[in-house]
Amino acid sequence: MASEDEISLLVIVVDVNPIWWGQQAQKEPQFTLSKCLDAVMVMANSHLVMTRTNKLAIIASHCQESHFLYPSKHWKAGLAGDDVSSGSSDGKYELLSVANDLIAEEIRNLMARTQVRGHQTDTLLAGSLAKALCYIHRVSKELEAGQDMKSRILVVKAADDCALQYMNFMNVIFAAQKQNILIDACVLDSDSGLLQQACDITGGLYLRIPQKTALAQYLLWVFLPDADQRSQLVLPPPVHVDYRAACFCHRNLIEIGYVCSVCLSIFCNFSPICTTCETAFKIPLPQMMKPKKRKLKTAI
Ligand SMILES: [Zn+2]
Ligand SMILES: [Zn+2]
Repeated sequence: MASEDEISLLVIVVDVNPIWWGQQAQKEPQFTLSKCLDAVMVMANSHLVMTRTNKLAIIASHCQESHFLYPSKHWKAGLAGDDVSSGSSDGKYELLSVANDLIAEEIRNLMARTQVRGHQTDTLLAGSLAKALCYIHRVSKELEAGQDMKSRILVVKAADDCALQYMNFMNVIFAAQKQNILIDACVLDSDSGLLQQACDITGGLYLRIPQKTALAQYLLWVFLPDADQRSQLVLPPPVHVDYRAACFCHRNLIEIGYVCSVCLSIFCNFSPICTTCETAFKIPLPQMMKPKKRKLKTAI
C-alpha cells in the first residue's frame, strides 16, 4: 500500500481539436465537447476527493496552443470572489464547484479566442504532453523534504495522429519513461499508433472506448485507479501494439524502409535529400561499376 502522505498527481490532457469536435457534434449530437468535459470533470473531482494529498492538472490540447484549464491563473481570484457560496448551492464541495466553473470558463475563453486557419488542423498533442511533463517536474521540485510523489498523464484523444509530430512525440514518451511517469490513453475515435507506443513504453493503459457516450464510466472504472490499485482489478486486456513505424512521406506503416542517418526519419522511398532535416546524401554513382567488370573479364 502507498503511504498516506504520498502525493498522487494526475495530469489530464484533453484533445479539444475544434475541427474534430465540430464534425463529431454533427455526427452524434448527444456527445459533444461539453459532454466530454463534463465526464473529464467527474473524473477530476473523483480524483481530488479520493485522498487529501491528490493533485490535479488539466491541459486543453488545441491545434494552436496547449492551455492549462486547471490550475488556472484565475484560480485564486475565483476563490476570493463571492460566487463561492452561490456555486455550492447544491451542497457540493465548494472547491470542486469553483474548480468546475473555472474549467468551463477557461475552455469557453480558449475556444472563443482561437480561430482555425485552414492549414493548421492537427492537435498539438506532443506539445501538450511536454507541457504536462514540465508541470510535473515543477511540482516535484516544490515538494517538502521527505514527501514522495507519483505522477501520471491521461490523454483523452479525439483527432487523428499527426505524423509531423512523430519525433517530438517519441522524445516526450522516452522522457516520461525515464521519470517513471505513466501515460494512459482513452481514445474516442480511430486508434492512435503513437499513443499505443506511449502507453506500452511507460506502462500505462491504452483503451479505445467502444461507446463515446459512456466516457465518464470508462474514465471512472478504468482510468481513475492508479497503478497500484490496477493490479487488483480486471481491466480490458492490453492491445496489440503496432510497432511498425509510419513513413514520414505518406504516413504508411512500413516494415522495411530508408532511415536518415542524421535525424532517424523513416521513408518508404529513397530520396537523396532528407525532407525532415534537409541533409543531402552523397550516393556512390553506378559508373563506378564499369572498371570492375573489365577487370573481371581479363581475369577469366
Ligand atoms: Zn512514404
Ligand atoms: Zn534527416
